[in-house]
Amino acid sequence: MGLIRLLILGTLVWLLVRLVKGLLGPAQGRTPRRPASGGELRGGELVQDPQCGVYIPKETALKGPGGQLFCSPECRDAYRNQGG
Ligand SMILES: [Zn+2]
Repeated sequence: MGLIRLLILGTLVWLLVRLVKGLLGPAQGRTPRRPASGGELRGGELVQDPQCGVYIPKETALKGPGGQLFCSPECRDAYRNQGG
């Protein structure tokens, strides 16, 4: 019977196609999508938290006693406790 052979062959081909598609990944064939940003960085400026090194929008940053900008009160306090 050639039917079972055909089925096995079909399954093998299907597996191969899946494998190749998986290897190529979504990077191939589709146009790369840019990460959807709200556009809040357009006018805003990014500043670096001197304590943890994270970049944060200036508008949402916490201002320290020395004029430094922090991402959170924890970082601000830690920075101050370090004698910075
Ligand atoms: Zn921080």
